[in-house]
Amino acid sequence: MNEMAQGFQRFSREVFPTQAAFFKKLATTHQPTALFIGCSDARVVPELITQTDPGELFVIRTAGNLVPPYTQGSDGVAASIEYAISVLGVTDVIVCGHSACGAMTALASGSDLTGLPAVATWLHHADASKARTDAGEHPAGAERVAALVKDNVLAQLANLRTHPSVAKALVQHKVTLHGWVYDIGTGSAELLDTESGQFTALAA
Ligand SMILES: [Zn+2]
Repeated sequence: MNEMAQGFQRFSREVFPTQAAFFKKLATTHQPTALFIGCSDARVVPELITQTDPGELFVIRTAGNLVPPYTQGSDGVAASIEYAISVLGVTDVIVCGHSACGAMTALASGSDLTGLPAVATWLHHADASKARTDAGEHPAGAERVAALVKDNVLAQLANLRTHPSVAKALVQHKVTLHGWVYDIGTGSAELLDTESGQFTALAA
């Protein structure tokens, strides 16, 4: 923790003064253009991989970049989605999966999660993702995980569309949904073509 505090001191002392005017403007302005829904995985840093500045991305990070479908009742993910769409008016929403995802690996390999009841319950939001992959006859191992990561992005985009704020914004053509898969080891990404349902490499 000491490292974190020292990092904050370094930010206050060395980084903040060089961009003080920028941060002063940010203090009274919150106008992100995109909602980024990614995995909590420490290696997937939205602002780094999209090269965005503070204030540009509204971010939700959950284990496995899962988006529970809309239900009545309190839900931090639903509230953040509604706020981003209806109040902040983001024009793009990105659901970003990634290589070597622990959540997807656990699902693909059928890990015993009896000692992790909260994780086991949460991962049911990927039941449709797993069903897609199971239907695709992918072999075991890394290839199966990679297929599940993509199927999961598709399934979570479907869940996202169940949120009334998203459904309304889509009808009004105020928002565009995107599916990405980020590869940690190569720094590359594949983007979903929403018409074909296929992922294609993003040109460097
Ligand atoms: Zn992950």
